[in-house]
Amino acid sequence: MTNAVETTDLSHRFAGSDYAIQDVDLVVPAGSIYGFLGANGAGKTTTLRLLLGLLRKQQGTIRVFGKELNQDRLGILRRIGSLIESPSLYGHLSATENLRIWQGLYRCPAQRIGEALDLVGLKRTGSKPTSHFSLGMKQRLGLAIALLHKPLLLLLDEPTNGLDPEGIIEIRTLLDGLARSGEVTVVISSHLLAEVEKLVTDVGVLHQGRLVFQGTLAALSAGAHAASVIFHTDDNPRGSAILSEAGWAVRLDQDTLVVATDVANSAALNATLVNAGIGVFEITPSRRDLEAVFMELIRGKP
Ligand code: ATP
Repeated sequence: MTNAVETTDLSHRFAGSDYAIQDVDLVVPAGSIYGFLGANGAGKTTTLRLLLGLLRKQQGTIRVFGKELNQDRLGILRRIGSLIESPSLYGHLSATENLRIWQGLYRCPAQRIGEALDLVGLKRTGSKPTSHFSLGMKQRLGLAIALLHKPLLLLLDEPTNGLDPEGIIEIRTLLDGLARSGEVTVVISSHLLAEVEKLVTDVGVLHQGRLVFQGTLAALSAGAHAASVIFHTDDNPRGSAILSEAGWAVRLDQDTLVVATDVANSAALNATLVNAGIGVFEITPSRRDLEAVFMELIRGKP
């Protein structure tokens, strides 16, 4: 299947600065929900702006749905909806009036206005000017604008930034529904893995302008399972000697034995210790959680 987005060697340098992004090879599978993660300043917005042609490409290639962005920019942009930073709204106009302006620009049917408002839960805002909207409502209206022309690709830059927990859940539920409809590929940037973890199928992690991980969420999780099993025994030095002789990677840590292995091996390890006459009091699996793996990636520690 064609990837929704593919970049090769994408690099960008602002005047007088170091590279904001360097040699970024993004692969966003069609139909995926791609979490684009990285700390503040990692280069996420720069990358998304390049994908939208909002920044002039300096180096590398950008393909959207298999087509080079430079070659069919308008055709491609018609198939993309985006929300980069906060939406630009006319504060004195209502949600419907704001959408009407975009409907004219996109030349899509007027009925899409109601549909889009319905989708984001803003159908009942009537003539209320958007300057009176809460941050969450403004963000949802931004999403309605992004969705108005039924795009095949949605690029969302930190759409839950600044929202309260309730607002975050609302936006997440909305995106989840959209993504599950299978009609749209979603790229959503965030500096918090926990915020998008329940939503995404694929992940790209940007660190100081470079892509340090890209793959499925399952592949990122596999790193989290690179785990150990901790044994409390009545004779740790002898236990350590027996296990290392049996070929296990083991170390003594304070008053425990730590074996670098998956939890699935704990029964076999226990049997080895017990058969050697060692009393085992406690067995504790120790997993690094996904957040720990992510933090190591963005701190640049492999
Ligand atoms: P954030 O979550 O804080 O928006 P980000 O991952 O989106 O972070 P970018 O906004 O892409 O990161 O910034 C990447 C780097 O490029 C930063 O060092 C930033 O200071 C720099 N940068 C971004 N925009 C400009 C600009 N217009 N002129 C100069 N430098 C810029």
